[in-house]
Amino acid sequence: MTLLRSGSATDTGLVRSVNQDLAVETSTLFAVADGMGGHAGGEVAARLAVDALGVAFGRQPTGAGLSQAVTEANAVVWQHSQENPELRGMGTTLTAVGLVNEEGHDVLALVNVGDSRSYRFHDGELSQITTDHSLAEEMVRSGELTTAEAAVHPHRHILTRALGVSSDVAVDLWRIQPMRGDRFLLCSDGLTNELELSQISEVLSSVNDPGRAADLLVQAARTHGGSDNITVVVVDVVVGDDMDASPVIAAVNSDFTVVPDATEEDVGAAELYPASVPEAGPPSRRERRRAKRRARRIARGRRLITFRTLLFVILLGGVLSGAWYAVRWYDTNSYFVGVDHNELVIYQGRIGGFLWYNPVEVQRTLVTTADVPATYLDQLNAGVEESSVASAVNYVRNLEATKTCEANPNSSFCSPSAGTATTAPTTTAPGATTTTAPGATITTAAP
Ligand code: MG
Repeated sequence: MTLLRSGSATDTGLVRSVNQDLAVETSTLFAVADGMGGHAGGEVAARLAVDALGVAFGRQPTGAGLSQAVTEANAVVWQHSQENPELRGMGTTLTAVGLVNEEGHDVLALVNVGDSRSYRFHDGELSQITTDHSLAEEMVRSGELTTAEAAVHPHRHILTRALGVSSDVAVDLWRIQPMRGDRFLLCSDGLTNELELSQISEVLSSVNDPGRAADLLVQAARTHGGSDNITVVVVDVVVGDDMDASPVIAAVNSDFTVVPDATEEDVGAAELYPASVPEAGPPSRRERRRAKRRARRIARGRRLITFRTLLFVILLGGVLSGAWYAVRWYDTNSYFVGVDHNELVIYQGRIGGFLWYNPVEVQRTLVTTADVPATYLDQLNAGVEESSVASAVNYVRNLEATKTCEANPNSSFCSPSAGTATTAPTTTAPGATTTTAPGATITTAAP
């Protein structure tokens, strides 16, 4: 038989104008939530979360039930933020302890998401049970920071996991054997940012009443700066087992998610959110960008396609399409006259081809190399550019007329005065030059 006795206190602190923290105390469920988000979002998120937690835990008062209750609370906050644009981005931390009975034994189930904390004060020693889901903590785990450095790091307020900021959330769950005389401390970061563990221990060891201890801790945090909302719940085990067993029991049931250390995949479940305004002011945009990049690396593989990636792919696709159309236009907007099996043929495309495009035959003229002046054959074999099919046809006809006038200059077909074939109109394509062959005006394209 286990009985618990508790007390709590909360305070806005000396800097904040509103208190977005919440404390929960019932006979079997205790929690601290530290809401975040503008336009009252933090208060709404914390309230929705603890209400949903209480209802769901009441339905299933087990360790698994408490973990599931956190999952449901997450869904409630997430859903609410999706339905109310002014509350988008709101979220909350949540750490909770529930007294449950499993297989005939009393067990304290402890859950956590975010950087509020739960401690156990046992035999005069205070030990942290929960692991912060913050960027600084991740850097400690990866060896980039020491615990002391993390405590003052500008990224210590950036969360890697929070309730209500994503459609799902990974929940850390511990199961603890209640032992008479043990004291549990649940608190928001407004307490731990201001006080050393030794200062907290001093209060917990010297003040018997849990409510009074909670009050004193909050007052102490105010005295040491009070830069954030401060919330404390103290839970005492007044009747419990005295067995000399390991107090923290992990993974006694494989159905439970016991995650004392978040996996990389778990970390990716949430966006980054500032849990509170650091003493030195909010992180700069550069710091936030760096923090986000780092969190993305931590969560690699979890969200392969981001908005930026999508935008990049779309832009790249647009550029490539534009380039393709430009190449295609350049190739198809050109014609030339060439020779195939002694016949003059009009092709579309660039002489010799362009990139992967080869010239395409568009018209055979039925004019042979014998029908045009021999002096033009080299030019024709190399290809003579024209701007259109019509100008290419005209060019061929002019060559044919020139040949005719060479053979018979006095023919009525030719005009001696002008020296121009009368039945073969000449046109000059843009960029073309005009040369005069005997008996005809010949238009050739510029090189
Ligand atoms: Mg806080």
